[in-house]
Amino acid sequence: MIANTNMDTLTSLCKRRGFIFHSSEIYGGINGFWDYGPFGCEMKNNIKKAWWDSMVRTREDVVGLDATIIMHPSVWKASGHLSTFSDPMCTCRSCKKLMRADQVGDILLDGDAGKSLAELLQGGVDAAKIAGWCKGKAKGQAPNLIAVQNADALTLAFHALQDHPEKFATVQAVYTLLAKPDAGEGTPYLACPYCGGELTEPRPFNLMFKTVVGPVDNAENVAYLRPETAQAIFAEFPNIVATSRVSVPFGIAQIGKSFRNEVTPRNYTFRSREFEQMELEFFIRPDEAVELICGHVRTMKDNPDLSTPQTDWGWEIWHKYWVEQRKAWIRRVGLPEADFTEYWQKPDELAHYARACVDIEYQFPFGLQELEGIAARSDYDLSQHQLHSGKSMEVFDEELKAAVSKMDDAAKAAFTEKTVADWVARGKDEEKARKFLDSLFQGRYIPHVIEPSSGVDRMMLALLCNAYDEQKLTDSKGKDDSRIVLHFSPVVAPVKVAVFPLVKNKPEVYNKAREVFEYLRKRVAAFWDEGGAIGRRYRRQDEIGTPWCITVDFQTLEDGTFTVRDRDSMGQERMTLQQFRDKMEEALL
Ligand code: ATP
Repeated sequence: MIANTNMDTLTSLCKRRGFIFHSSEIYGGINGFWDYGPFGCEMKNNIKKAWWDSMVRTREDVVGLDATIIMHPSVWKASGHLSTFSDPMCTCRSCKKLMRADQVGDILLDGDAGKSLAELLQGGVDAAKIAGWCKGKAKGQAPNLIAVQNADALTLAFHALQDHPEKFATVQAVYTLLAKPDAGEGTPYLACPYCGGELTEPRPFNLMFKTVVGPVDNAENVAYLRPETAQAIFAEFPNIVATSRVSVPFGIAQIGKSFRNEVTPRNYTFRSREFEQMELEFFIRPDEAVELICGHVRTMKDNPDLSTPQTDWGWEIWHKYWVEQRKAWIRRVGLPEADFTEYWQKPDELAHYARACVDIEYQFPFGLQELEGIAARSDYDLSQHQLHSGKSMEVFDEELKAAVSKMDDAAKAAFTEKTVADWVARGKDEEKARKFLDSLFQGRYIPHVIEPSSGVDRMMLALLCNAYDEQKLTDSKGKDDSRIVLHFSPVVAPVKVAVFPLVKNKPEVYNKAREVFEYLRKRVAAFWDEGGAIGRRYRRQDEIGTPWCITVDFQTLEDGTFTVRDRDSMGQERMTLQQFRDKMEEALL
């Protein structure tokens, strides 16, 4: 990773070079919405294409879907989004700002008051300096802190800081003290990070955007913009099973817009209100079906080879398989393995239906944050839709039916007892277990699902942060020079190659360069630049991360070779068009 990419510098480069603009900027912008300019949308398309190629086009066991953004509201009732898709939110009683309760601490550290306090705390807790801040800068930065407003409260805080500096080593601890100097130990953190005012208790806030379908604006016509693409996949599951030649294990993938009315959209595009997701629902047999078919279920304890899926894999191996597949893809689009981490959620962090969930996290300049998640979601989603729609989500599995037909009654009874005991031990309902087995013995079940779920915008932001570099150089005459360069992988780079004529006033050279350019632009995103010195043209391409620049010169007219300048090494090599094409295709494959 290019350490410490400054977000302000990156944001301004992205604007200056046409990657990302604030939506509706001419009207002052709208919070949480971003537009992707000419190079931004090329790059975003490249990320989506790379995902689709890896998850759908190059696999025989995944098919695609492109569903609507607005669906029947019952979808969201069944999925649980209507009742539970909410964030706990606080409001400041003084400045009236809304914020997510779990982000109050982070917002504080990002803001002016937090930064001032962090600076003051650098050399340890100094009660006098903190009191000085309350009497000075804090009047502008956190005017509603009690210790800023009231001299007695400040004295109280001063003594607490002096007597017990060890309790106030963090910005949050000092801020809480200054907000409520008389509250004593163990005060929950409740001060507004924007002004120091008192926050309300957290209340759930539903993140779905509401809209109305049809001309009549009443409760019956309320619908929602989808907050994730996954539910459409579950809702279309029976159609796809009925019409495509798919059988479990198989997946359905979708890329598309999602909308969340995030309480505090922040960190540039990281948490937006409109964003794009790339989601796969990969349907697998329940472990009990695998056991009936194979006589055993392989788990991670068996140390499996994860390269090729096997019939005897249980959910645990499938989950790990998809974690590895996703990691390989992330490396492929340009994030080195060392720069992201695999966080396994603890049992108490998992949703009640989930068996495991891995967050792939990236060290953004604003902290270690989730890039994507890979969850083993059991049969929860399809079961919910079966329950709410009354339509069967079961599949018929011929191999299972064949395996069951070879079992006698005693074998079935033994399998039933073992399975029921196992379900009960896991806190599940005995009656449900018996119903499940009834279906299973007829060759039917609701598939379980592994869900790799990724955000296009977050991936692009991580790739931008990772690629950004400012380099100090020495030019050919020994003078100090510098350049900004985006070290994108060729797969995601918005422009793959730029073509320059060495001079523009020599028609033979110019026309030859146009010929090369026309040839390349039919195949990849190519850029034509005839303006200014070649060095300047290189710098312009470095800033947008173009991997190769071709300069056509007089020698090209003689032997057909041109110079190819490599973005990262800045080395130049002469080659023919065919040689360049081979090199480029290999990098893009
Ligand atoms: P977070 O905890 O950061 O809110 P989440 O766990 O709710 O994310 P999921 O519902 O699992 O996210 O969504 C899957 C992926 O969609 C995320 O890993 C992320 O890449 C992307 N995503 C989710 N919310 C947003 C958002 N508001 N802006 C941009 N991308 C998002």
